[in-house]
Amino acid sequence: MFTTTTVGSLPKPDWLAEPERLWAPWRLEGEALQRGKERAALEWLREQEAAGIDVVGDGEQFRVHFVHGFLEQLEGIDWNLKTPMGIRNNRYVAEVPTVTAPLRRTRPVHVADAAFMRAHTGHRLKITLPGPMTICDTLADRHYGDRASMAMRFAELLNAEALEIEAAGADVIQFDEPAFNVFLDEVRDWGLPALERAMQGLKCTTAVHICYGYGIEANIKWKESLGDQWRQYERIFPWINASKVRQVSLEFAGSRVPHEVLRLLPDKELLVGAIEVLPGKLETPEEVAHNILEATRHVEKARLLPCTNCGMAPLSRELATAKLRALGAGAELARRRLG
Ligand code: ZN
Repeated sequence: MFTTTTVGSLPKPDWLAEPERLWAPWRLEGEALQRGKERAALEWLREQEAAGIDVVGDGEQFRVHFVHGFLEQLEGIDWNLKTPMGIRNNRYVAEVPTVTAPLRRTRPVHVADAAFMRAHTGHRLKITLPGPMTICDTLADRHYGDRASMAMRFAELLNAEALEIEAAGADVIQFDEPAFNVFLDEVRDWGLPALERAMQGLKCTTAVHICYGYGIEANIKWKESLGDQWRQYERIFPWINASKVRQVSLEFAGSRVPHEVLRLLPDKELLVGAIEVLPGKLETPEEVAHNILEATRHVEKARLLPCTNCGMAPLSRELATAKLRALGAGAELARRRLG
């Protein structure tokens, strides 16, 4: 009961990349960089195991960013042609790389990372990939002409990658789709079909992480504009419940998502975020347990997996470590209360 897991990313150590910064460039090169990524991933693996996290991951130590780590290895993207683009429906503007030619995956991207992790843990292993819709919200297009076509092409490439990651020993493959609560009708029209294409043929557990974003300034301001209750999920959950994905990851710690929306996913396992990803805040195990038990009022406990709200990459290493421990201890407390 209450199998614990995380959304994925964890902070990088300061000898590997500048801490508490997204897209921080690597501080090592070549062979030393590869050994450094492995060492950082192993350190986080042991932290997760010690904290009582059941489904563990690499903390995304092998990739510079949750989307760009995958894109960097593809053909068809011009990284020097930067186009200004309003990300997440103009929540913030970023200079993004541009798709200028047919997209191709000429080699595996995260498959060796998955194999490395598999060789070092007996725990269930989760590997994350960016979802097709979120990728398309992070790139400009001068080749495909519409985002739906480009998303479907990314879905084919992600599927090839996911099948190889599964073969390398992953038990769970999670696609991150923070764009899903922004472009609601598009989720139905092409976001979910592309996600299902990315998952085609997978026999392992599949998951989708939807969220209101990292604790960065632009996201905090956006959240303030959403009102007292965040009800975007009411639109998309019925579609997601009808889809093939098995697990849905959502933020509930400190968020204004009303717990009753969980009822709109009766056929899914739910990764309930019980840990906030804002700097400066550390939950007690008691608070984590409270959040989990609150969710059991709407969802039978067998379908609940305590999790973090989102990736913890922007936090300090110390805080992220303490939060992993609070999550593990809080889930144990919840088990004892209901046991
Ligand atoms: Zn997230």
